[in-house]
Amino acid sequence: MTRVTRLAPSPTGSLHLGNARTFLATWAMARHGGWRVILRIDDIDTPRVKPGTIQGAMDDLRWLGIDWDGEPTIQTHRATDHAAAIAELIANQKVYPCICTRKEIELAASAPHAEDGGLVYPGTCRDRFASIALATAAAGRAPALRLPVPDQVFKFVDECAGERQFDLASEIGDFVIAKPDLSPAYQLACVVGDSAAGVTDVIRADDLLASVPRQVLIYDALGLADCVPRYTHVPLVVGEDGKRLAKRHGDSRIATYREIGVPPGRVRALLSRWLGIDCGDTITADEVKGRFDLRRVPREPIIFTAGDEAWLRSVN
Ligand SMILES: [Zn+2]
Repeated sequence: MTRVTRLAPSPTGSLHLGNARTFLATWAMARHGGWRVILRIDDIDTPRVKPGTIQGAMDDLRWLGIDWDGEPTIQTHRATDHAAAIAELIANQKVYPCICTRKEIELAASAPHAEDGGLVYPGTCRDRFASIALATAAAGRAPALRLPVPDQVFKFVDECAGERQFDLASEIGDFVIAKPDLSPAYQLACVVGDSAAGVTDVIRADDLLASVPRQVLIYDALGLADCVPRYTHVPLVVGEDGKRLAKRHGDSRIATYREIGVPPGRVRALLSRWLGIDCGDTITADEVKGRFDLRRVPREPIIFTAGDEAWLRSVN
């Protein structure tokens, strides 16, 4: 069976060095192993996608030598699949309606925050309403739908991050899979998109490790336990302050380096070093593919330094 992975850029902004590193790793692993690579635009939480941003992400990927198979898919174009999955979860009583406001959850939450910064929902509405209609009548508005998590420890082995575990009740909590308008939450859309495309391998940065238990629980609830992919979480690229790469760390957008004339081989060389590939000032995409070895990928956060930035821009 051919393995399948996906590049899933969000269309909110251009690719920066952090997500470019993750996509280069994904592409190198996949092409090295002869897997199929699909491109999926994850626009679920960004209803107003600016014109040109999807094209911009594709241009950035191509400039780096990253290619994919077939036409790109757009998450929000799969509304029928999302609605079918949500209807199935409702019919099989795998989810429950929740009418809590964010304020109420903040006040009630016993555990302060989940590892990924979100609030751990305390389960207020579990067993509270016999149906969505009764919840709607009680609140005077439509409820969100939550998937209840069992009170147990969830363990898994990540291909890069190793053995991990989450206490589902205190670290994850019952989570939203559909918003009050019955549009899908990110986690559900992700599982529906991955399973529809036959994705066998998910490669992403380790700020999404806590999505693993949520997504596996969704696969289970949908009767798709056999489709759970292998997960590979590579260390997040951070600035010198240890925080996730963002605007305050300077303009690390791929489009900017392209515009000022930094050659793609030089950008690839920096990204390759972050993946544990020993290389000089430039490297071809083919060389990245040939030399990528998951065992050599660093296990600690990758720091984008002022020195890296100066080196990248020092071509002229
Ligand atoms: Zn609630």
